[in-house]
Amino acid sequence: MNILQAKAPWLPERLDVRVFAQASGQISAEAPLTRFVRLAEEFFESAVDEVPAMMQWRAEGSVRTDSLGGKPAIWLYLQAKAVVPLQCQRCLGVAHTVLEVDRRFRFVTDEATAEAQDDECEEDVLVLEPVMSLYDLLEDELLMSLPLVPMHETCPVPVVMQVSDPGVAPEGGDTPVAHPFAALAKLKK
Ligand SMILES: [Zn+2]
Repeated sequence: MNILQAKAPWLPERLDVRVFAQASGQISAEAPLTRFVRLAEEFFESAVDEVPAMMQWRAEGSVRTDSLGGKPAIWLYLQAKAVVPLQCQRCLGVAHTVLEVDRRFRFVTDEATAEAQDDECEEDVLVLEPVMSLYDLLEDELLMSLPLVPMHETCPVPVVMQVSDPGVAPEGGDTPVAHPFAALAKLKK
């Protein structure tokens, strides 16, 4: 039996990328955002209820030569888009941020080749493993697409710049200082 003709549904969690590519496999699916545990740690806690339940993603496998005309290689294309709640570092409110993954991977057989080629290529070069989880790969990419400093383009509330001198201790010593933006956060509710 020709394995390429086996019409089994692809298992994103345990995918044989070689077979997937040789079959020109395609997956177009939804995944619950909550399954990306490492990503969810970055969410703004007080807005976690607002996380859209599902994320659309797709994957395509192919076998083709690279731009240098080398031997045919295994390629994987991953695309995803998610809206996640992060905390704006300017107004401290929730900033619904679009994360996008649009990435091509080329697979090689060993780590040394991957390291040697990864810097030279536009695509990511990975070592081919017998089975791999597309969810892990997706999550890595989503994490990398996070903004370094999440921020609204335009904050929904005016931000009052406060001049403060951290060198001067407030009166009363260890009395906690009210956060300058705490009042604003309350106003928003
Ligand atoms: Zn903001």
